[in-house]
Amino acid sequence: MTRTGTRSRADQALREEILYYCRESVRTGLNFNTQGNISVRVHGDDGFEGVVITPSDVRYDAMRPDDMLVVDLDGTVVEGDLLPSTELPVHLAHYRRRPDVQAIVHTESTFVNVLGTLGRTIDPVLLNMVLYAKGPVPVMPFEFSTCAAFGERSAALMGDDVDAVVWANHGLLAVGVSLKLAFKVAVAVEENAEVLFHASRVGTPHVLAYDAIALPEGARLP
Ligand SMILES: [Zn+2]
Repeated sequence: MTRTGTRSRADQALREEILYYCRESVRTGLNFNTQGNISVRVHGDDGFEGVVITPSDVRYDAMRPDDMLVVDLDGTVVEGDLLPSTELPVHLAHYRRRPDVQAIVHTESTFVNVLGTLGRTIDPVLLNMVLYAKGPVPVMPFEFSTCAAFGERSAALMGDDVDAVVWANHGLLAVGVSLKLAFKVAVAVEENAEVLFHASRVGTPHVLAYDAIALPEGARLP
């Protein structure tokens, strides 16, 4: 399963980008220790479809680009020597449901988990949240997260119009058309959850609706 002598289905730049965002997730407070995981969809010239995913139980400061695994959409490892993230079946369920999704970022950030343990939907109160997550982020009741059936329920609850879902008592799964965007979703939801938590203690926050946001023509997103 090593890629010695053959061209990898995941090029070096992609492996390094995944590692960069893994480390960013710790630096920005979205993850602690070995928590969280990241995957990106890959396509081969020969029709191969699969994902590159972070390994299980490897500290991000010790992780190397070569530690990433390539798996097909059934979860069979085709490249890599380590074990894939335990939440691989959940990532695959999300990719199967949403062909538009090119990357997935799973984080376990504090305010997402504060609202998640309360079972509270994360309503958009910040512009970044409504632009990137696109709507209220639903909360899936607690259950253990490493099986495909959990992934199917997670993907169904997220639906097709919103780009994140909270797993109660655990964390967040964010998706995007690129890794950069999926990471922006995870950051935006955590920032929004923190503001929503504090604002809700003082009064009733004004909630934004994606469909009601009128972007000026040619405007660039923040
Ligand atoms: Zn997790």
